[in-house]
Amino acid sequence: MRLIDIGVNLMSPAFTPDREEVIRSAFDAGVSPLIITGADAASSTRALDFVRERPGNPAAGRLYTTAGVHPHNAKNCNEKTIAALTALARDERVLAIGECGLDYNRDFSPRPVQREWFERQIELAAGLSLPLFLHERDAFEDFSRILERHRDGIRAMVVHCFTGGERELEKYLSLGAYIGITGWVCDERRGSHLIPLLKMIPGGRLLLETDAPFLLPRSLGAPEAQGNTRGRFRNGRNEPRFLPHIARFIAAHLGKDPEVLCRETYENTCCFFGRNFEG
Ligand SMILES: [Zn+2]
Repeated sequence: MRLIDIGVNLMSPAFTPDREEVIRSAFDAGVSPLIITGADAASSTRALDFVRERPGNPAAGRLYTTAGVHPHNAKNCNEKTIAALTALARDERVLAIGECGLDYNRDFSPRPVQREWFERQIELAAGLSLPLFLHERDAFEDFSRILERHRDGIRAMVVHCFTGGERELEKYLSLGAYIGITGWVCDERRGSHLIPLLKMIPGGRLLLETDAPFLLPRSLGAPEAQGNTRGRFRNGRNEPRFLPHIARFIAAHLGKDPEVLCRETYENTCCFFGRNFEG
């Protein structure tokens, strides 16, 4: 089984004690490459620095990043932010602009500010001909309206950690978006509405991600999920090595051979990023 985790928050402090071990065990589980999610200019820079510092390391060539600003952090953006993201994106290991988008669930940044910097990042991606790694929570109307307006300039986009309903899914598919599914789908309390929607996602549009250290799949057995048990990770820290569990869970609900699903999503990922990750 071979999978690419398109969304790992690998620079999160949750991984500071054992980041190398987390990477190694992901590779051992067949999860490679890992694509590290950037959440603001600083974290995007840290992620790329981390990847650059590894020549000769077995993980070289198996780690990539995105560069972008999460809507929570939009309030800290200025012109220097776009310049910094542009500079990062010159490195071929930066595969996409994001995560960017709108989050009206927590409103950590004022909504007009979120919209402004979301659009600026869409324009950046369009100018650089890079895919977009998108985040949307409780902001469907504004989010889809903005995407619609810029649609012609967008090379490719993935709505990462999709948690919406049928209407949202149909809209995103009609806009040509890929759909990123995380272990949210394994959560019987809040993710079961996603299970019937899986069948609506065309085989060529599905991408898989853990969003680690967040969203430990609740269907994982306790021994497998052991890890950090404190604070916000009291239910266990998620890791990229758990991606095969998510793939098997999805395959079971689609009535598909897990190997076939893995092969399909691997190819989708190469296609989405316009890269051949072989070798
Ligand atoms: Zn997100």
